[in-house]
Order: sequence, then structure tokens, then C-alpha cells
Amino acid sequence: MSSDFDIIVAGAGMAGALAAISAAKGGAKVLLLDRNDQQEAGKKTNWGWVCGDAVAKAHVDFIEKEVGIRLSKPELDHVVDGVYVLSPDMKNKFLFEGEGYTLDRPKYARKMVSEAVKQGVDYRPKHEVEGPVLENGELVGVFGKDEKTQHFEIHAKVIIDCLGMASTLRRRLPPNEFIEKDVSIDDIESTGRYIARFDHIKEDLNYYDPKNAIIHLNQQLAPGGYGWVFPKSDGKINIGIGVEKKSLDLRNKKLVKTDTLHKLIDEYVEWNPVLKNMKVDETDHNGKGYWSVAVRRQFDSLVYKNYLGAGDTMTMPNPISAGGIGPAMVAGILAGKTAAEAIAANDTSMDFLWKYNTRFNDAYGNKTAGLEVFRIFLQSLNNDLINYGMSHFLSKEEATAMSYGLVPEISIASTFNKILSGISNINAFKNLVYAHGKMKKLIDIYKKYPKSANEFKPWKQMVENEIKEAKARFPPNPI
Ligand SMILES: Cc1cc2nc3c(=O)[nH]c(=O)nc-3n(C[C@H](O)[C@H](O)[C@H](O)COP(=O)(O)OP(=O)(O)OC[C@H]3O[C@@H](n4cnc5c(N)ncnc54)[C@H](O)[C@@H]3O)c2cc1C
Repeated sequence: MSSDFDIIVAGAGMAGALAAISAAKGGAKVLLLDRNDQQEAGKKTNWGWVCGDAVAKAHVDFIEKEVGIRLSKPELDHVVDGVYVLSPDMKNKFLFEGEGYTLDRPKYARKMVSEAVKQGVDYRPKHEVEGPVLENGELVGVFGKDEKTQHFEIHAKVIIDCLGMASTLRRRLPPNEFIEKDVSIDDIESTGRYIARFDHIKEDLNYYDPKNAIIHLNQQLAPGGYGWVFPKSDGKINIGIGVEKKSLDLRNKKLVKTDTLHKLIDEYVEWNPVLKNMKVDETDHNGKGYWSVAVRRQFDSLVYKNYLGAGDTMTMPNPISAGGIGPAMVAGILAGKTAAEAIAANDTSMDFLWKYNTRFNDAYGNKTAGLEVFRIFLQSLNNDLINYGMSHFLSKEEATAMSYGLVPEISIASTFNKILSGISNINAFKNLVYAHGKMKKLIDIYKKYPKSANEFKPWKQMVENEIKEAKARFPPNPI
């Protein structure tokens, strides 16, 4: 069957626009499809561009280095010096990420689709992708509804799936051992946020800091997740929480409550003693929104026959922070580049495309399975243990290193001397040492990432076994 395009990129969000730009820069004939109109490019749901909008400077720099696009105001809405994580008792504050930005998400997305068009990409808004076109079990295109709700079917040699969390492409691929169809509910955070203005009734940098993003760990306010207060320009704030279902259910049961995500967000806003009288900012109809984020390692393979996936469709958000903008940007660029190279080499076989897996792992993905274990461990701690752990178990430097997926040597003997008070603290520390060991092991496993699709199955099994063990050892225990 002849192809209409070399490459179809489905979804013009964080990953998709960059995948299209990078593929076009590589010389390919590229089609970019998105269900929204151009003004609403990248909008995730009817709720808007639901996100905390925080991204590390390193990822923005990666865009400039790889595809030559320099971002600035207005899409880089506000500069932040760092991201700080606070313990539930507010007595400990760890630096989690360095310099970065909060984005104006709608403006960023509109800029990126116009950059794609400048690169010669055929951008078709108002095209809903409904599924893959298959021929003898091979993926040869996508089908869906166009702007007049007429059926379309378009063929290409490579498809890059950037449709986000609920991708209609990934979930309708033929059954295969490479790309998972579904994501376990235990690995999903239900999240929501408001973009709003407030009256600032006093100053306290633990609750609102115009120069830093703040994360509040608190298993009662945000069971299995966290709350955040991220500064934006002109005194605006992005405020929200993420919760994990099992943790929320357990918390509700123990406290005899029936709280929902929506209720908990409002309680979190109310809890903040600095910010009062919220006025939701409805610019771009993007004031209030709810959506889900996967917080596991990215899928073990991001490649199938004629198919690459990037961003949320491949569960790329960081398992600890749920930060998915950076990995979506990196993956979009690398997927577009690899697909264009395959077209130039006239070889779109899985073996050729496989290098996208190793490129993404080298750039970002090697650490995420370890971070998944760290997340599972954190979700097993109640507020008292988090408070105790943040003041006794790790130094600030060690905690920051672990949040980056590094595994510093923990001085077990000296820590044990400090923590010998209470059996539950000792058990939690032993569990930290176990999690630390698993993180190390997973980093080693990722160093041996399969060089080709043939070697994939036993490697995947090794990763799954490690994660399964961690999940069995650390059931959620928020209260
Ligand atoms: C409340 C919340 C807070 C978050 N906070 C942060 C944060 O502060 N920092 C951070 O880094 N990450 C954060 N994340 C995660 C981040 O938003 C995502 O990881 C990121 O948007 C992923 O980009 P993507 O391109 O993969 O998917 P998306 O941004 O979801 O883009 C997918 C695109 O595909 C389009 N599309 C979907 N289905 C179809 C279809 N069938 N046909 C055609 N088009 C379709 C959509 O309209 C959209 O344009 C947060 C997420 C949530 C929900």
C-alpha cells in the first residue's frame, strides 16, 4: 500500500509538536494530527491544559540544542530557582529540582505548532484519531474523523503516538509483547489544579514562594501523592494535588470519611494560611481542571513495528514528581529524529527503530524504574514516618540525589545510631535501605538494556520481577 506521508505524528501536545518538528528537520514528509483547533493546540481535555506547568531548565535547553528553538516570554511564563519538598510537619525542606520555569501552556502549545508549520509539517487540527490502520497485522496508518466529522484514513511508513494518557492508538494496537495496552490503577495519580489569584494575607515561604515551586508531602491532605503551589507571573498561582486511589480509600476508611479528589483540592486551598479569597483565572478557559498522570517507569519498550510512542502515552512522567513535560519533550525530539533517520535509510524495521529506546534511556529513562521503587516506598509511609525520615534517615544532599534517581552510599551505621527510637522508625529505615538496594539493582539492569527486540522478553521479565517484589513489600499505608 502506498503511503501518503513518511511519518504521522498523532497529538500536538508536549511530545507531539516536537516530534513533528524534529522529524521534519530530519527531512521527512510529516503530518501532525490533533483533535483541537489551532487556538486550542495541545489542550488535554475539555478541562483545559491541565498541568502544574513546571519544567526544568535543562529540558528547555535540550530543545534549543536539538532543534534550535529558543523559548522565552510569554510561553516561559515565570522563572523558578528550584522546587522544594516540605515534610508534613513543615520542619524539613529538601531541594528536589533546580532552576526551571512555569509555562504558559496554551501559549507554549500555539508557538510549537506554528514552529512545526514553519518546518514544513502538514498540521491538521480538528482531526480526531480513532485508531490504527492495520494491514496483515502491520500498522500502516491511522483513521478517525476530520473537521467535518467525516471518516479519514491516512497512510504513513512510521506512526509516532503522542496522544497522551488515554491514547486511542496504543490501546488499539494488535496484542504484542512490547507495548502495554493499559496502565495499572495503582500506578496512576488522580490530579487536579486551579490557576488562580489570591489575596496574600501574610508572608510564609513554606506556603507560597514567588521564586520557588513548593511541594507539600502530606498523606492526610494528599494521600499517596502531594500538594503543590507553583508561582506564575503577575501573582498568579498554579495550585493542586495528586492522590493515589488505594491510599485515598485507606485514608478515608481509617478517618471514616468519603472525601473525593475535588473535595481534597478545596481543602488543600483552604489549609494554606497565606493564600485567601481564591479567584480562578479563566484566561483560555484554563482555570480549573482534573486529569490523570501515570507515575511508573516508561513502558519497557517504546517501539513496535512502524510505531514509536512518546510522552504520557508511554507513561513517561517522573514516578516521584509526576513531572512529564520534560520527558515528553526529550522523547518527542528523539522519536522524531529516529523516525526521520529510518525514512532516510529506507529501513523502518523494528530493529532500526529500536535505537529510540536506547536513546531515550540514555537521555532520561535509565533512572525511572529505580524512582518507581522509591515512589512505592514513599507511599508506604505515614506522616509521622515521613517527618522522622526527612529529619533522620537521609541528609538533604542524599535525599536530593535519590530524587534524581541517583543512589548515594547511605551511611547505614551512622544513620542507625541516630534512629534507634521506636520500632516503626527502625522498620521504615530498613525498608529505605531495601528500596535503595533495589534502585541500585534496577540501574544496573537498565545498563544492560537489550540491544535489539530479540533480547527484550527476558530483560523485561527481570524488571517486572523487581518491581513486583517492591510492591509486595511496600503496600500503601497512608495513615
Ligand atoms: C494536574 C496535573 C499536573 C501536572 N503537573 C506537571 C508539572 O508541573 N510538570 C510536569 O512536568 N508535568 C506535569 N504533569 C504531567 C504533564 O502535564 C504531562 O506529562 C504532559 O502534558 C505530557 O505531554 P504529552 O504530549 O504526552 O500529552 P498531552 O499533553 O496530553 O498531549 C496530547 C495531545 O494529543 C491530543 N489528543 C489526544 N487524543 C487525541 C485523539 N484521539 N485524536 C487527536 N488528538 C488527540 C490532545 O488533545 C493533546 O493535544 C501534570 C499533569 C497533571 C494532570
